[in-house]
Amino acid sequence: MHEYSVVRSILRQVEQAVGVEARESVREIRVSVGEFSGVNPDLLLMAFDQVMAEQGISKRRLVVHPTTLCAECRECGTEFAPVSFVFLCPLCGARETRIVCGEELILESITLQE
Ligand SMILES: [Zn+2]
Repeated sequence: MHEYSVVRSILRQVEQAVGVEARESVREIRVSVGEFSGVNPDLLLMAFDQVMAEQGISKRRLVVHPTTLCAECRECGTEFAPVSFVFLCPLCGARETRIVCGEELILESITLQE
């Protein structure tokens, strides 16, 4: 399950953002996970809880905000949301499209204890 390595990478990013001294006071971490990022939100939450348990941290939670897939037509530049992973431009019918969102995993915010 590669969600464990994703959790570790999120925690590294959090540590870099808040600094080593403040990492103990991190209470909430919000991430947005694209539906095409290859990361399963449920497995990510499970992996997070597991890693927290291993590290003996009980007061921290992860909030996952799923983002949907969107694509852009290479022919006419139209942005659209593919339905059932069908990448076909709704305007000109071209199949040459590229994914512009939905592949990302972004650290959105970190909440520290007051
Ligand atoms: Zn098009």
